[in-house]
Amino acid sequence: MTIDTTVLGYPRIGPDRELKRATEAYWAGRTGAEELEGTARALRRSVWTGLRDAGLGTIPSNTFSLYDQMLDMSVLVDAVPERFRHLDGLDAYFAMARGAEGVPALEMTKWFDTNYHYLVPELGPDTRFRLVRPERAKPLAEYREARGLGVETRPVLVGPLTYLLLAKAAPGAPDGFRPLDLLDPLVEVYAELLERLAGAGCAWVQLDEPALAADRTGEELDALRRAYERLGALPSRPRLLAATYFGEIGDALPVLAGTRVEAIGLDFVAGPGNLRAIASIGGLPRRTLVAGVVDGRNVWRADLGRALSTCASLLGLAGDVVVGTSCSLLHVPLDLAAETGLDGALRARLAFARQKVDEVVLVGRALREGHEAVAAEIAESRAARDAEGAADYRVRARLDALGEGGGRPDRAVRFAAQARTLGLPPLATTTIGSFPQTAEVRAARADHRAGRITTEAYEAAMRAEIDRVVALQEDLGLDVLVHGEPERNDMVQYFAEQLDGYAATANGWVQSYGTRCVRPPILHGDVARPEPMTVRWTTYAQSRTRRPVKGMLTGPVTMLAWSFVRDDQPLADTARQVALALRDEIRDLEAAGIGVVQVDEPALRELLPLRRADRPAYLAWAVGAFRLATSGVAPGTQIHTHMCYSEFGEVIGAIGDLDADVASVEAARSHMELVTDLSAAGYAAGIGPGVYDIHSPRVPDVEEMEESLRRALGAIAPGRLWVNPDCGLKTRGYAETEASLRNMVAAAHRVRATL
Ligand code: GLN
Ligand code: ZN
Repeated sequence: MTIDTTVLGYPRIGPDRELKRATEAYWAGRTGAEELEGTARALRRSVWTGLRDAGLGTIPSNTFSLYDQMLDMSVLVDAVPERFRHLDGLDAYFAMARGAEGVPALEMTKWFDTNYHYLVPELGPDTRFRLVRPERAKPLAEYREARGLGVETRPVLVGPLTYLLLAKAAPGAPDGFRPLDLLDPLVEVYAELLERLAGAGCAWVQLDEPALAADRTGEELDALRRAYERLGALPSRPRLLAATYFGEIGDALPVLAGTRVEAIGLDFVAGPGNLRAIASIGGLPRRTLVAGVVDGRNVWRADLGRALSTCASLLGLAGDVVVGTSCSLLHVPLDLAAETGLDGALRARLAFARQKVDEVVLVGRALREGHEAVAAEIAESRAARDAEGAADYRVRARLDALGEGGGRPDRAVRFAAQARTLGLPPLATTTIGSFPQTAEVRAARADHRAGRITTEAYEAAMRAEIDRVVALQEDLGLDVLVHGEPERNDMVQYFAEQLDGYAATANGWVQSYGTRCVRPPILHGDVARPEPMTVRWTTYAQSRTRRPVKGMLTGPVTMLAWSFVRDDQPLADTARQVALALRDEIRDLEAAGIGVVQVDEPALRELLPLRRADRPAYLAWAVGAFRLATSGVAPGTQIHTHMCYSEFGEVIGAIGDLDADVASVEAARSHMELVTDLSAAGYAAGIGPGVYDIHSPRVPDVEEMEESLRRALGAIAPGRLWVNPDCGLKTRGYAETEASLRNMVAAAHRVRATL
């Protein structure tokens, strides 16, 4: 038995987001392909040599990407839709990612339940997979490049099953076509690539199959078997690691174990049940088990004692054990060394990608040399980890006393009360919260942050912006106004900065998609609200108009989904703490005369567990947290919520359970079907199906929105129908925003006149 160490993948953006800068300079035409490639090469080298110098046993390659690893696969196997074929090289690659003159990009969507986005392959019966320029294929080139630096690597590819399950049928593909139909020809391309990698001297290849962490049909498992039997049977190939992550792989485990793959990677952080599953199939003797014991999704130091005992149990169940991360480290920031401003006690509890490599190496040493050899390091880690996050016993006591929060009176009672307090017309018009963030607004925020302008000057600039936005909305004739959110950099970070129990990083960047990186705040202790967070701005806006101004907050689930969250208590408990802070904020808004409050939950769908069996429990706490936040107000105070993603499916029932008075949802691209679906699911409150798509600068005309509203009225009474765009306007310009909203209000008025 040998014990090795590895990671499944590593951040590629560089310590200073060098990849972002180089790519954007290339897009802007300021630099050429050579310079971009030079930066890319330097970044790859620093990752490989850095991992080697850290003492990691086996180092992955082909985890670098200029944009996205799924896009890389599509290009590798020539799954390039016709509309990009007149372009080549980097032009074609980036056009697929971002679109080009008259050529829309591939669709982009979330990678499982992470905040990383991939480009969705578009496949049809005409797709002809082939290995493009085999000698220069990216995985082969990177393997050779690393070898040239003296680093032997294990190229990583998205596995064939996951690639196809994440693909969509190309527009125009016949009904009934499924990407999975293309498994056999796709596997032949993998086969050719594996043979070439073997020819280049490559000993191991990693095939990522995270799709196995979700429910899979018997047919899909058959496809898995077929693919890996074919690849396993190749006469000349590297050894294969089928890497799974993001959860338990259930029925897929015996299937993989029945093929000839030499190694299986299992996630023991998101999928603790994987341990029992291995035991139940009698272990994996003669196989290598890559044990994902260090969390690749979160920023906390590992519980090394637990990691060690998991690995120790595996020693008796597998041929060889490789200590590894639960998934690629793509999802965590690169290096804690760059965080000098964090509170010392918090910093001691953290491990970013670079520190996680050390943890993997340490667990490997402990297994090989015995605990005693690394006892000091383990003790130090335990002490740091056990240092509690700030506990707030007041928050805990209040939550215990509140229970569910009491709930709100009957919907009919609220409806009548709100008719009195607000007196809104049928088909009331509103927006989702943010107005365009102009260069001046961004500059004012940046200047204030950097201390270049005084707080007074900054606040005056924000008030001037609110004045403008309120005046514009009055001029447009909207019924429920907003303050426009000019003071918010980001809908989560803005609140995180004001809540106790949250910390911001200076450099904790994580790739969200392409060159877009985010810096999720760290929720590390009990959450409490030292003082009101939004009341000043909202009441200022309300002081400028007689129409109702809607307060704007981010909901508990979204506050967790877009942060790194403490893992020492259930998410549900943390969600309740955030909810309590919001509940206080909403009551303060109400007391200050605000009659409408919106609580955004765009991430409700995103946190939905991959396995169906886990969903009811999740939805129960997610809905409970929303209700706790919103149930402290009088019946006459109107609670809105907003969600934006097109695939509501699984959560449609939950939207009603939130018990808001109005839900505004993205529907512009789904032709109002959502209104029918919601009604069918028993939803009885107000609905604002977005009547136009804010993701495009196009100005919709009055007639098309009028038509949408009339269609919606087929499924809902006019008093319950709201008229709004499908999301916030902050990424849009003023010209199109004004024109679109003017048309939207006109459409509402026309329909109203015919009621
Ligand atoms: N109120 C937020 C805004 O308008 C909502 C953003 C979102 O749904 N993602 O910007
Ligand atoms: Zn939205």
